[in-house]
Amino acid sequence: MRKRIVAGNWKMNLNLLQAKQLLEEIEKGNWGSEVEVFLFPSLFQLGHLQGTNQKITLGAQNFYPAEKGAFTGEVALDQLAVEGIQWVLIGHSERRQYFNETNAVLKTKLDYAIHQGSKVIFCCGEPLEIRENGSHFKFVKNQLEESLFHLNVAEMKQVVIAYEPIWAIGTGKTASTEQAEEMHAEIRSWLTEKYGHETAESISILYGGSCNDQNAQELFACPNIDGGLIGGASLKADSFLTIINA
Ligand code: PEP
Repeated sequence: MRKRIVAGNWKMNLNLLQAKQLLEEIEKGNWGSEVEVFLFPSLFQLGHLQGTNQKITLGAQNFYPAEKGAFTGEVALDQLAVEGIQWVLIGHSERRQYFNETNAVLKTKLDYAIHQGSKVIFCCGEPLEIRENGSHFKFVKNQLEESLFHLNVAEMKQVVIAYEPIWAIGTGKTASTEQAEEMHAEIRSWLTEKYGHETAESISILYGGSCNDQNAQELFACPNIDGGLIGGASLKADSFLTIINA
């Protein structure tokens, strides 16, 4: 059975007090062991939040792929590990767009994280013009081929994939269940080609892009959608808990 995962990406929102309160409220939720819940708060909050939290896995929105040194403003995986943080987000469209993280840069980050033993949620997804000209499968396959598909089977098992069409992120415009399932099925078929059936079936593929308490249930009912990466709707306990229960 693949892991069902709901991950909240808080991005650059919430001060520490708000983050602590929201985490506490979310932790009051009642969900079963069939779903794993992740949160990605601001980097500086990780150490503060880690101590109080029991049921939720915390991860880092970013890191720098070097052991240590003169990289002002960056954080190392070892620094995260000391706080008990094992999971990292790689390839989010905002990092690609605003911080020039190309497929090649993401490959470097991914390799570094995997070799350090971190676990990764790797994001992919196409912009609107690519969706509109019909080359979205080719575009997403290329993202995965250039950054991810060089991993071997054991390494690949440290990865969760998140498909996030850029035109759906923060826009209120969700991909339809058909559009999302179709891409997820395609990603799984590429995984099968590269890694075989058993590995492909074991890798969770999350959907992200305006997923909310109204549409999560329908999306998560699709055979190849194993949960969600949630931005805006993870900033309110009630909507996030509804998504977790979906
Ligand atoms: C995201 O940024 O990963 C995301 C899915 O955001 P939203 O849910 O707000 O569209």
